[in-house]
Formats: sequence, structure tokens, C-alpha cells
Amino acid sequence: MSQLWKTELWRLLGVIFICFLFGLVLDSIAWSLAIGLFFYLIWQALQVRHLERWLNNDIVPPPYELEGIWHDLAYRIYHNRQRSRKRRKRMSEVIRRFQKSTQALPDAAVVLTSNEEIEWINNAATRTLGVTKSDIGQNINNLLRNPAFHNFLSQGDYSKHLEINSPLDENVSLDVRIRPYGENQRLLVVRDITHIHRLMTMRHDLIANISHELRTPLTIILGYLEMLLNAPADTDPQKLREQITKLQSPTTRIQTLVDDLLMLSRLDTTSNEEKNTIVNIPDLVQQVTDEAQNISNGKHVIHCHIETDTHLFGIKDELYSAFINLANNAIRYTPEGKKICIRWYLNKDNNTACFEVKDHGIGIAWGHLHRLTERFYRVDPGRSKATGGTGLGLSIVEQILRRHGADLHIDSTPGRGSTFTCIFQPGWQRPSQ
Ligand code: ADP
Repeated sequence: MSQLWKTELWRLLGVIFICFLFGLVLDSIAWSLAIGLFFYLIWQALQVRHLERWLNNDIVPPPYELEGIWHDLAYRIYHNRQRSRKRRKRMSEVIRRFQKSTQALPDAAVVLTSNEEIEWINNAATRTLGVTKSDIGQNINNLLRNPAFHNFLSQGDYSKHLEINSPLDENVSLDVRIRPYGENQRLLVVRDITHIHRLMTMRHDLIANISHELRTPLTIILGYLEMLLNAPADTDPQKLREQITKLQSPTTRIQTLVDDLLMLSRLDTTSNEEKNTIVNIPDLVQQVTDEAQNISNGKHVIHCHIETDTHLFGIKDELYSAFINLANNAIRYTPEGKKICIRWYLNKDNNTACFEVKDHGIGIAWGHLHRLTERFYRVDPGRSKATGGTGLGLSIVEQILRRHGADLHIDSTPGRGSTFTCIFQPGWQRPSQ
């Protein structure tokens, strides 16, 4: 028997004893005992009432009116409550931190009950699936009306994943994964994989384009080789030489294509930061003009205007490659005798430094302008190939400019000519030394 019970028992015996003594004095032991026990019961009832009142208020410590075993009982309850309150606080802190981290996830996360009802969602679920907090409690199949998803969810084999179109936008592809956990609950994780799809399509297109570009020169080479192999022994050596010479053009074509592809791949995958130096652009522009004059071989009137001695921070070979590509295009797409202007100047309006190539050639229709820097995009494939173009020149230019924080601006009118401008921001400019 606990100490408290003993004390309570002593209290009761005390009451009985005192009432007994009073009974002896008053000569009515039975009445005295009955009255004493009656008051004892009332006192106990009052204690219960105090306890009951206090239980309704779970924050304050037990009141001073509680005594004896009631006070001790209340105190134990109070301690247990304090302990469980701390535990609850710790738990809710853990849940709050978990929810905060899942809210920050870029992937949509949805917790489903065993009945496929939504129990919890993160912010990305609203962006990706259009499910909002007001949909909590709804069946997911009513919101994601996709038979493939419905089958995936109900079949129960969650080792695989599913690809579906977004319910918000047909062009967005989603990767759906389900992980069962807890008591028949499921965690739905949905990731936007549109960019991966786009990259895969680009890769397929690139491979198809490269194969297509290689096929023609290879067919020509094979044709000539066959002819040479089957040539009679007494064939005139001069004629044989002529045929071998014809192999040169398709071979050069393959070589140029491979060189351009390697250049693009290098630009795509390497960083230029540690290779940047101060490049003397006025000298470089003069070099480009001299080379352009060489290529044109006197067929065009080529002017050079160097209006600033501003230098650039960058890679000389890359800048040369970009500038000569633009000059070369101007020569290739400008009829003989017409003027081509190469210019290096400062644009005072926005403090940019500009390298400009302006021709008076065939020009480009407005609808093509935004696609010119795409790999293998040509306005007139016949003309491009006839002049030795690979369809990669402007992609290389754009990529080089991007590595130098610059933009390519194209302005053109069909039949009148085009202006290609490389615009360099002030941060990349350096004063001449
Ligand atoms: P290509 O090797 O075919 O010239 P580019 O990437 O250099 O490839 O150019 C893409 C296309 O842009 C060209 O096929 C051509 O149609 C067009 N183009 C480029 N520069 C000019 C220009 N100066 N004048 C007219 N069209 C041009």
C-alpha cells in the first residue's frame, strides 16, 4: 500500500476516532459517526469537483484546494501532461521541418491514403499537377484523369515508373513514381522531364542531320572510287588525275563538317574562364578584313572601319573564328561587285562594343531570322552547300558569343542585304594598352 493511501486511511480513521469521542461525550456515537462520515464524504466530493475543474484547464499546475491523495493524483497527471506536451512539440517541429524541406523540392509530392485520396501535397504539386490544398480528401483519379495513371496506381507494382502528359499542358512530359510506406499510404513523386525529352529529340535530330550531311559527299567519293577501280588498265593518266582531283571537294566537305562539329562540341563542353586574356580587337578586325579580302579574291568591295581602340577580355582564336565566320557568310551570300562593310565601334547609347558585318547581298526573310543559329538550319540548303557551308557557322558564332557574355543581332531585308552585329557588354571591354 502506498504512503498516500496510508495517510488517507489514517485521515479516515482520525475522523472516525474524533466522531467516536464526540459520540461518547454527547452520548450518541451512531449519530456522531454518521455526521462525521457525511462531512468526510462532502469533503471528498469537493476534492473531486476541484480535480474535475482543474482537468478542464490543462495548462496551470494543480490548485492549492486539492489535498492529500487528490493533490498527488493531480500532480502526476500534470507531469504526464507536461511530458506529452513537450513530446508533441518535438514531433510537430520534426513534421514542420519535414514539410518545409518537401515544400522546397522541385518535384511534386503527394501523399495518398489507402483509398487513393489526397492527404498532403507540396507547393510543386500545384505547379506541376494543378492539385491545390482544397483538393485534400479528394480521390486523385478524379483530378488526374489519365487511364495509364489509373492503371499504374491500381496495379500495385511500383518498381517501374510512368511517363504521362501534364494535365495542365499537353506539351509538358511528367515522370511519375510511387513509393508505398506506412499503413497502406503511398507517396507520389512527379518530375517534369520535358527538358530531357527535348534533349533526346535534339540528339536524335543531330545524329540524323550529321548522317544526312555525310551521305552526299560519301556517295560521291564511293562513286569515283568505284569508277577508278573499274578503269581499264590503259586509261589515260591525265584522265585518272582529273577523276582523283574530283575526290578533293567531297573530302574537304567532310573535313570541314567534322572540324565544325568538333569545334561546337568543344564550345559546348569546356569552360573558357581560365583561358581569357586581353585581346586587341582593332588588330583582330584588320586581320579578319585581310582574310576576307583573300577569300573574296577581289570579287567584292570590302571596307573596314575601326572606330574605337577598345579591346576585349576573351579568347583570341574564338573571337577570330566568330568574326571570320560572319565575314565569310557575307562573301558567300553577296553577289560579286557588291559592297561589304566590317566595323568595330562603340554604341554610346548603351556603352556596348559592336563588331558588325554589313553586306548588300541576298538578304533573309523575316520568318527565318529566329532560326538561323540552329544547328544545320539553312534558308537555301542548295546555295549553302554549293558555297561550302555546313549549316553550323552561325551556331558556332552564337556559342562563342555566349562564352563572351555577348549577343548576336541580325537585321536583314531580302534582296537588300543583312547586318550581323556582335554586341559586347561593358564588363568584357578593356581599354587599349
Ligand atoms: P551555312 O554554312 O549554311 O552558311 P550558317 O550557320 O553560317 O550556315 O548560316 C545559316 C544560314 O543563314 C545560311 O544557310 C544562310 O541561309 C543564312 N545566312 C547566313 N549569313 C547570311 C548572309 N550574310 N546573307 C544571307 N543569308 C545568310
